Amino acid sequence: MLRQLSAQGLRDAQVLRALGAVDRRRFVEAALARRAYEDTALPIGLGQTISKPSVVARMVALLRGGLTDPATGKLGRVLDIGTGCGYQAVVLSHVADEVYSMERLRGLHEKVRETLRPLRVSNVHLILGDGMEGFPSGAPYAGIIAAASGVAVPPAWVEQLAVGGRIVAPVDVRGDGGQALVVIEKTRQGLTHAVLEPVHFVPLKSGIS
Ligand code: SAH
Repeated sequence: MLRQLSAQGLRDAQVLRALGAVDRRRFVEAALARRAYEDTALPIGLGQTISKPSVVARMVALLRGGLTDPATGKLGRVLDIGTGCGYQAVVLSHVADEVYSMERLRGLHEKVRETLRPLRVSNVHLILGDGMEGFPSGAPYAGIIAAASGVAVPPAWVEQLAVGGRIVAPVDVRGDGGQALVVIEKTRQGLTHAVLEPVHFVPLKSGIS
């Protein structure tokens, strides 16, 4: 999996190391274990999917392009929207000081607690809640990353982002279901937006259930 990611052009050594440190097989059902290292999204229950490793790597690398501490090479506090099976949250735990990971589906949120227990990751904080509202108690965030796509980036994320930080999220940019990866950077002068490559994520929904 890592060889394939480097061949695809992923150059961020810290991201490669983080993906190398997290065994993706632990996050998928036993029946899918054989496919855990393929570069593909896989079902995780309740109609949701674990993201493709190449997309996780790409998005985490983009996030690291923002407010990374030059001394440690790490991000400070990061907000992860859409915990799903917890894979991306644990990858993030290797490149950030603290990870606040939000999931709106109770079933997935509870399952992740079980998945994470043996991994002993002390800097991932799992929150059952509507990620569209963000998580003000952890703000300001060095980075905000989302694994579910809405028609726009929720204003709460922009408010909870630190100056110098980045939001990396899929957005339904044309309003017709065609998504693209969007990077928003908060500078002292205001916000910058970049629309990058097409992506395909599950929808961002409001409320918990
Ligand atoms: N990063 C995850 C990907 C999970 S798919 C992983 O590594 O497995 C995206 C997740 O976003 C789904 O579990 C979905 O339930 C969740 N989601 C959608 N809208 C949300 C919202 N408003 N708040 C929190 N989670 C949300």
